[in-house]
Amino acid sequence: MKPADIDEFFHRLASVNPNPKTELNYINPYTLLVAVVLSAQATDVGVNKATADLFKEIQTPQAMIKLGEEGLKKYIKTIGLFNTKAKNIIALSQIIAEKWGGDVPSEREDLESLPGVGRKTANIILNICFGVPTLAVDTHVFRVANRTGMASGKTPEQVEEKLLAVIPKKWLRHAHHWLILHGRYVCKARAPLCPECIVRDLCAFKDKTI
Ligand code: SF4
Repeated sequence: MKPADIDEFFHRLASVNPNPKTELNYINPYTLLVAVVLSAQATDVGVNKATADLFKEIQTPQAMIKLGEEGLKKYIKTIGLFNTKAKNIIALSQIIAEKWGGDVPSEREDLESLPGVGRKTANIILNICFGVPTLAVDTHVFRVANRTGMASGKTPEQVEEKLLAVIPKKWLRHAHHWLILHGRYVCKARAPLCPECIVRDLCAFKDKTI
């Protein structure tokens, strides 16, 4: 995609949704971190169902430690990989409570040192909680970036690097959510809704649906 087309792409997505938000429910940075850890290989809808009750009771690492691994499992047992996720959430809560007094750290290095927190999760926390213009490349962002020709790559890391290089700075703060939402609701995996897509004329995908 040409630079002018990328600018126009985000201009159009921004015009219909100026303040895109994550679809994961959360109360504060800590609960967002828990929700994002739970969302690995799970849907936001499924995570929100589980956290609706959990976050009524638990909003801090200290409270989570008190709840304990077995207590947490009772809330999240409908989510895939819940055993490992429960273990990681208790472990990361202990580290946050001991090392940072209960506050989610704002440095990438510190975030990525937490159990169950990889680059993608760190990017989401940095972006939403601390306003850092990062991009977390999930399955939707990966697909949209490759299909449209905005940033092609074989791995999420390659796509992330290219997207950061080609997206104009003014759009970077929200680019992550615009791309996710576009991928989730319009540029769907199996049957993209090309006829009603507002960036159709800018997109280089060869197999557009008609
Ligand atoms: S035209 Fe189709 S393939 Fe291209 S971004 Fe829109 S929905 Fe996706």
